[in-house]
Amino acid sequence: MDLFIIKVIIFIIIFLIITNWFQIYSFSKLIVGKKIKTSSIKDSWINKTVKKKTGLSLLNITLFHDKKMYGLMAGLPFWPKMILSEGLYKNLNRDELEWVILHEAGHCVLWHNLEAFIIELVFIFSGLYLIKVFELNLLGSFLVSIFFSLICIQIIRWSIEYFADKYSINRVDNPRGVITAQDKFRKNYFKNPFNKEGSILRFLLHWNITYSKRIEMAKRRLS
Ligand SMILES: [Zn+2]
Repeated sequence: MDLFIIKVIIFIIIFLIITNWFQIYSFSKLIVGKKIKTSSIKDSWINKTVKKKTGLSLLNITLFHDKKMYGLMAGLPFWPKMILSEGLYKNLNRDELEWVILHEAGHCVLWHNLEAFIIELVFIFSGLYLIKVFELNLLGSFLVSIFFSLICIQIIRWSIEYFADKYSINRVDNPRGVITAQDKFRKNYFKNPFNKEGSILRFLLHWNITYSKRIEMAKRRLS
């Protein structure tokens, strides 16, 4: 195989894995290791709240039977499918859960999946351009892919995740729920290397803004 093609493939694979590790990890738990099960849930409160506050009619809510707390949003505004983990669904009260479901619905309404796709595509094409123009070797291509994915995560955090939180926190009935939910996340992710706000791993690899930043946003609404 042509060396350029090998460099391109390595660049794209490394870039996609580092940038989207959380999504890959969450979905891989469905098929490898101690597999988690999924089920479809009917929760009219979630459907009604999302419809009322975002205008979105959810097609489906899937529960991942996982003790960890997380939510994901698949699809675009015309195909909205929400994923909630069982840990999240069972641990959070309605005020807290409202922040999560509006955050996830916000991703959909604001076309964030498409936005993330375009941002990642721009990085991929820029990387391939660098590899070609500067005739980077294998190691160079590898290092550029790592560097680009870390920058891409920063951009996704501040152009997508921050705005989903802002969208949601501005719409919740009770901003105090946002604050108490952060404590529950801290407890649920206790011992996880991404939990500490000052952790370099969290800063480099985590899409979300910090718990403190969300609390600060909720407090601003309360004042
Ligand atoms: Zn999000």
